[in-house]
Amino acid sequence: MTDAARPAHHADQPRHADERRRADLAGRLAAVRERIATAAVAAGRDPAELTLVAVSKTYPAEDAVILHTLGLRDFAENREQEAGPKVNLVTHQLLGGGAPRAGGPEAGAGAAADPAKAASTPGAGLAVPDRPVWHFVGQLQRNKARSVLRWADWVQSVDRAALVDGLSRAAVERGRPLSVCLQISLDPPRASSGADSSGVAVSGRGGIDPGAVSELADLVARAPGLTLRGVMAVAPRGESPRGAFARLRNVAERLVRDHPGATVISAGMSGDLESAIAEGATHLRIGTALFGERPGVP
Ligand SMILES: *Cc1c(COP(=O)(O)O)cnc(C)c1O
Repeated sequence: MTDAARPAHHADQPRHADERRRADLAGRLAAVRERIATAAVAAGRDPAELTLVAVSKTYPAEDAVILHTLGLRDFAENREQEAGPKVNLVTHQLLGGGAPRAGGPEAGAGAAADPAKAASTPGAGLAVPDRPVWHFVGQLQRNKARSVLRWADWVQSVDRAALVDGLSRAAVERGRPLSVCLQISLDPPRASSGADSSGVAVSGRGGIDPGAVSELADLVARAPGLTLRGVMAVAPRGESPRGAFARLRNVAERLVRDHPGATVISAGMSGDLESAIAEGATHLRIGTALFGERPGVP
């Protein structure tokens, strides 16, 4: 935060650190792109049809800015409190500001919530192809829909009907549609009998039970302001990811029959992107392989 607020020309020290970090990120990005290309070729797929989403959670805004200058456009966050201010910082740095404008992140957030000031939505001043695309991939609480939609272009983690109305209202209010993925539980069939009455799996890593997908998909597809884009999942622990991603592909194939526009399969993280690509993933959500080990996270 304090680094970001300091003018870029203030000292040589931070600049050297910036250059080192830039080289580090460039090297990691090249290695990840290489892994993706190799896996795509092995699966008989065109690497160009795969979207690399940088999961910037826990990393500073400066890292996202560097990756943006290295050509990445898609970024993901999983905590709303962390993401809002970070997106504002990234936006202002990309606009050439360096420091956020007076009033801090809240000023931007307030403006975005006011339709009359829609022009000050974060990133609105950047040429469209250059604007970062922000994905929310974390657990969403109903009362956070509006604050998430101040910055998110996508919410990939919709896993229950109770979220749909709030997201829809917030999208209509801001005057810009929200892309939505349904988060699917990939717990082995045996474990997913532990789903609660709303179909949300209570074990494993979140997501809706595959059997409840079509109802939720119809709800999202009908909701004003929401665009159903596809499915997202995290491979469960204790099972090879390939089998889990094969189940996800199945769910995705059924979904696209009813909703031809819902072609996205967001699957694959640093440890399992090859398996995800082999099973049809279109969006890869990569954190540690791009940024390095997360500070303070085992
Ligand atoms: C953190 C996270 C990722 C990235 O995980 P890495 O193992 O760091 O690549 C992907 N998806 C979600 C939902 C995450 O929370």
